[in-house]
Amino acid sequence: MVQRYDYSTQRLYVTFDLGIDVVVSINRSQANYLLNVLRMKTGSRILLFNGRQGEWLGEIEEKGRKSCVVRLLSQSRIQPEPYNLVYLFAPLKKGRLDYMVQKAVEMGAGSLQPVITQHTQIAKLNLERLRANILEAAEQCGILTIPEIHDPIALYKILADWDKDRSIIYCDEAAEKIDGIEMLQGLCKKNLALLVGPEGGFSEEERITLRLLDFVYPISLGPRILRADTAAVAAFTIVQAVAGDW
Ligand code: SAH
Repeated sequence: MVQRYDYSTQRLYVTFDLGIDVVVSINRSQANYLLNVLRMKTGSRILLFNGRQGEWLGEIEEKGRKSCVVRLLSQSRIQPEPYNLVYLFAPLKKGRLDYMVQKAVEMGAGSLQPVITQHTQIAKLNLERLRANILEAAEQCGILTIPEIHDPIALYKILADWDKDRSIIYCDEAAEKIDGIEMLQGLCKKNLALLVGPEGGFSEEERITLRLLDFVYPISLGPRILRADTAAVAAFTIVQAVAGDW
């Protein structure tokens, strides 16, 4: 039975341990959001998760204008396995990167690995800000396993150290019309990674290197060049629908 979760109840990520009758103290900014933005009151229902112990239904108890606790009543969902799809992406400029990270998490990325390519314009990443985006996407989309985001690594080093048991689906803007569906059908049930390039696309040298690797599968996302953040959504859609968990 697919665990359909309760879309309507507010969900909140906390770091504390969760369990029956546990009383979780809510930090000031989250309490302010719940009480003064969402207008929740004592007795309001809320779902808490911590990325380790599934999801728990609780009730709010107000303690002040910007202070509350949540008393846990029952476990609403058990902790699922992490998603098995690695997202390799060249970092983009701030706003588009925040958007792309949120969409990757919403669409089932199990881990996020920033990759520095020749045309990547961003080298320093604010991982704390990106982690906040990851949590926001998880809260909004009922995701219980929180994907890790790692420090950026150069593309060549990623490929040199790559676990060949995991196939890399490489979004190649220069790919001739390849039947992506058929290729992906051959990769069902395999360990997969998805690679999307930077605003400036992949260099010719990178394209040649990638195409020489037998664990790399080029895919076309159509006859138009998509913006990198659009390409991410398009790639996740086709990969998840044909060879993923949709
Ligand atoms: N210059 C544009 C697009 C750069 S392409 C921009 O400003 O964003 C960005 C990345 O998206 C590419 O490296 C590739 O990974 C992916 N991509 C874009 N269009 C694609 C297509 N038609 N087929 C496959 N991948 C594509």
